[in-house]
Order: sequence, then C-alpha cells, then structure tokens
Amino acid sequence: MFYQEKCTLCGECLMKCPYLAYSEEKAKVEFRKLMNGEPSPVTAECITCAACNMFCPEGANPFDLINDRQEESGTFVVADQSIGMLTMASQLPSEVIQGDPGKPFLHLCTVGDFIPGAIEGQLFDGLSKIKGGDYFCYIGWIHLGRPGMVRDNAQKYVDNLANTGAKEIICFHDDCYAMLTSKVKDLGIDVPFKVVHLIEYLRDYVSVNQDQTHKLNMKIAYQQPCASRYTFEKDQVLDELFDLIGVIRVNRKYDRQNALCCGGPMVAMQNISQETVEQWRMKNIMDAKQAGAEAMVFLCPLCVLPLRGRAKAQGMEPYILSNLVRLALGEELAQGGAGKVF
Ligand code: SF4
Ligand code: SF4
Repeated sequence: MFYQEKCTLCGECLMKCPYLAYSEEKAKVEFRKLMNGEPSPVTAECITCAACNMFCPEGANPFDLINDRQEESGTFVVADQSIGMLTMASQLPSEVIQGDPGKPFLHLCTVGDFIPGAIEGQLFDGLSKIKGGDYFCYIGWIHLGRPGMVRDNAQKYVDNLANTGAKEIICFHDDCYAMLTSKVKDLGIDVPFKVVHLIEYLRDYVSVNQDQTHKLNMKIAYQQPCASRYTFEKDQVLDELFDLIGVIRVNRKYDRQNALCCGGPMVAMQNISQETVEQWRMKNIMDAKQAGAEAMVFLCPLCVLPLRGRAKAQGMEPYILSNLVRLALGEELAQGGAGKVF
C-alpha cells in the first residue's frame, strides 16, 4: 500500500531505480505526476521489481503507487502469453497430500514441480503438501501491472489455505510468504494459521541437526527474488542459515538492497527487447562471478529457470536453496543443484 502522507517527493525512489536511473529533477517531477494521477513514462518503463519500496527513506512504498497507476493507465503492456500463463496458474488441478499428523504443511503454490529434486530428502519427510491452482497466491500479477488481481483474490486464497486445516504453513515460494505476511495485512485480512518462510524452516532444521550437517566451505552469490522486497527482514535469517552450513555470501553490487530482477518480468513487457533483457541478466551473472562466487544460489524457482544455465556457463554451479542445504546434510543431488544436470 502506498502511504501518500509519508511521501516528501524527494525523488530517491526513481533516482535509485537501476532501470530508470532518473536525475533528481526528473525523478521529483515524475513522482509528483504519479501522485496526481497524471500520465508519466514511469508506468511504461518500470519493470515491477518493487526495489523502490526499499529505496524510499520514508517507507511510503512507491512501487505500490506505480503498480496501481500501471493498472489504471493501461500503459504497461505485456504479452498475451504471459497473461494466459498466470490465468492458467489459478486453474491448475489442486491437491493436499497428507503427511504425518502434527507436522506442518508445505505450501508449494503452483511452482513445486518446477525444479525436480528441490523438495526431496529428509528436510521434507512427513510434511503435508499443498499445491495447485486453489493455492496460487496471485502476487505474480503485479508483474503484469494488475495489482487488482492480487487484491481481488487475496481472501479466497487465505480461505482455501485455512480450509486445509493446517495450523502451520511453510511457504516454499517467496511470493506466497509476501502475500500472507505483507499484502494481506494491507488488506486487513486475518490469517488463521502460522506462516513460516522456507528460509526460517531450513535455518531451524539445520540448527537442531548440526551433528548431521557439514560445512560446505563455498563462496556463493545469492539471487534475491523481487518478492523479498516485501519481507526483507528474513534476509538476516538467510545469513544465519548460510553461516550454519559454511557458506560465504560474497559481497557484490547486485545483492540485498541493490539486487537485480532475474529478468522474468521484463520478458513479458512488450517495450523491452530480448537483447536488453539479456544485458541485464549478464550484468547480474558477471557481477556474481567477479565477486568470486563459486556457485549461485536461488530462492525462487522462477529465478532458477532463466539464470541457472548462464551461471553454469560462467563456472558457477547453480543451486536452489533447499538443495544447498541437502548438500550440507550429505544428501546426493541426483537431479543436480538446480533441477538440471549440466
Ligand atoms: S519497481 Fe523497480 S523498476 Fe519500477 S520504479 Fe521501482 S525500482 Fe524501478
Ligand atoms: S515515495 Fe519515498 S522515495 Fe519516492 S518520492 Fe516519496 S518519499 Fe521520496
């Protein structure tokens, strides 16, 4: 939610945006236009990474205003194919696979099968699993400039999860966690179950199973998903997890506050060329390599798909986070670290 009363029109959000990088003067002018509901090039140029919500020194959530203006103005044009894919996501067959009584539920949204091997092994033994269109969290619609879809479906999403009877739900997908802990708060929706992020679950699992965990002694670059902008507090928990498994997160330009989008949302945008998307992806990959990373670690399966091959080609082994932890637990990764054996 954009907090207009907090905004001082300082322009920081649009100046720090890596994709727009406006001058101070232009940033102030264009943000005022957005506030007033006047046409601004920002609505067509913003790639919906949500980073400016973190850049704003006042906590005003500028991206939420930009995203609303994108929807109102219709100037954010995306491929029909992308709209079709997200529409289909909410129509996928749904399933609740019962695990051991008393254990938490693992919420896979519609992305649980994207990376083969990512939810295997002792970490997930006995957990009930929730997946399919009834449990699709809708956050992806912000990347198509349709935040109204998130608002309109939030209550149904929470109700569907509550109807599984789960008391505690671990979110495998960062988007779902952002929806359940941030977006629903904006909408005043109660969540009648405990929500745990996968990172938190992995940190706690490793903490109580330290005798089984060996240090990986590996330098990694982390690819932060856009949804983490809504729940950045868990970044500290991620550092604790990395410490427990002996992983050094290299200092690089495009991490934490300055993380770059994986490029997925840009692919959907009709006014951005494939060449431009590729340039941004390679900036990210080469930054990781130059910082000395031996491996690239992903949280979101949707970031894995476009970047795993590019990371591997630059000598960095790709891992989805759960697989990195499985490696530290001594498990064999038959499908590779990121669902593909290169
Ligand atoms: S959401 Fe990302 S691309 Fe859009 S203005 Fe904010 S920082 Fe820039
Ligand atoms: S939203 Fe925040 S960063 Fe952007 S102009 Fe307002 S106060 Fe400044």
